[in-house]
Amino acid sequence: AFEQQVTEDYLFKIVLIGDSAVGKSNLLARFARNEFYPNSKSTIGVEFQTQKVMIKGKEVKAQIWDTAGQERFRAVTSAYYRGAVGALLVYDVTRRKTFDSVARWLDELHTHSDMNVVTILVGNKSDLKGSREVATSEGKSLAEDRGLFFIETSALDSSNVGAAFQTVVREIYEILS
Ligand code: GDP
Ligand code: MG
Repeated sequence: AFEQQVTEDYLFKIVLIGDSAVGKSNLLARFARNEFYPNSKSTIGVEFQTQKVMIKGKEVKAQIWDTAGQERFRAVTSAYYRGAVGALLVYDVTRRKTFDSVARWLDELHTHSDMNVVTILVGNKSDLKGSREVATSEGKSLAEDRGLFFIETSALDSSNVGAAFQTVVREIYEILS
């Protein structure tokens, strides 16, 4: 019982980063509420959402932060990153420009938070098969070069959304336990 109480007290701050309109808010909406917004505006973003995640039969809480559109003005504040132990760095597989921004987001992440922040590179919108501009192998190889986890997701059809968040939470849990 003691051990369980201790683990229930774990609260991991995880930040969503990446260019505007890559699907950050919808990944969080899908993960936390199983919802999707086909025409979402940046205003749908909540500040953060706390979600219970089961890791090896134990419950840990992930406090997942969304930019709420700040990234459009390149104005993601240092408060946003402060205390983060995990990050989902999202790009849109149908817009190469958002993949080209990944290095800049990594720099920003490492400027404002611990170098050891557990990071997963997320190629979102995998459902849009006809308009893909970034191959899976490119995402995978960038992630390998930068020491990141990698996954492709679709907030629209739900594929790998849970796995993306769980990968980060599980790794943080393993580092801290
Ligand atoms: P954010 O600016 O990164 O938070 O992106 P949003 O979550 O607001 O999504 C931007 C647009 O992309 C919205 O119109 C979403 O409906 C759409 N979108 C988000 N995720 C997906 C996805 O996995 N597949 C498809 N087809 N569209 C998506
Ligand atoms: Mg958003």
